[in-house]
Amino acid sequence: MHTRDIYKKLFSNNAVVAHRGAWKIKGLPQNSIESLREAMRLGCAGTEFDVHATADGVFILYHDNIYAGKNIENHTYAKLAETKLPNGEVLPTLDKALMEGMKQTDTRLFLEIKPSSTVEKTVICAEKIVNKVIEMGAQPWVFYISFEYEAIKRIKQLAPSSMVAYLNENISSEQLKSDRITGVDYNYNFFKENISLIKNAQYLDLSLNVWTVNSPEDMDLFLNHNFDYITTDEPELLLSKQKMTI
Ligand code: MG
Repeated sequence: MHTRDIYKKLFSNNAVVAHRGAWKIKGLPQNSIESLREAMRLGCAGTEFDVHATADGVFILYHDNIYAGKNIENHTYAKLAETKLPNGEVLPTLDKALMEGMKQTDTRLFLEIKPSSTVEKTVICAEKIVNKVIEMGAQPWVFYISFEYEAIKRIKQLAPSSMVAYLNENISSEQLKSDRITGVDYNYNFFKENISLIKNAQYLDLSLNVWTVNSPEDMDLFLNHNFDYITTDEPELLLSKQKMTI
C-alpha cells in the first residue's frame, strides 16, 4: 500500500483542504488557531496554513511578510505578538498549531513554508521546522508545501518518509518524481490549461493537490479528476459536494 493510501485511511477520507483554516463562514481570522479548529470540527482531510520565521527564530502562522505594519523577519515574536488577531487570539505559533492538530486524527496539517528574504534562509527555516515536527512527534499529521524548491528537497532529505508537495509549476513531474517529491500542488488555472498534466502526474504516482478552488464548477472538475486534495476557501461547500458523490 502506498504511503498516500495509508494516510487516507488514517485521516478523513475526503479531498477537502481548508485554505488558511476554515475562516470564511464564521468570520474568523485566516491562519488563526480558531480557524484550524473549525476545519478540524468540519472533518476536512486537511487544513492549510502559512508559516514565517520571526527575527528571534519563532515560527508563526501568518500569510503576508508584514504583520501589523512590521516585517516579520526583522521583529521578535514578543514585539509582533503585542498586536492580537482580530478575534483576540495571540499571534499563533507553529508549536501551538502542531499541538492543536495532534489532538485529533481527522485533519492533516498542510504546512506551507513561506519564502524568507533569501533561499538560504528559507532552507534553514525548513530544516528547523522539520526538526521541530519530528521532536514533537507530529510527522504523521504534517504535509509540507512550499514555493521554494530547495526547501522542498531539503525536507525530503531530512525526513524521507514525509509528504511534500511543490507549489510552483516550473519543474516537470518527471523531475519531481526523480527527486522523490511526493506530489504537485498547483494553481487551478494551471491545471485547467494543462489537463494532460493531471493524467501524467497520476501515472507517475504523484499526489495531486490544487489551490484555491472556490467555484462549484471548478470543484466538480477536480473531483471528477480524482484529485487527492482540493484546497478551498469554501470547505463547507466542497464537503457537501463530496458527500453527495461518495
Ligand atoms: Mg498558503
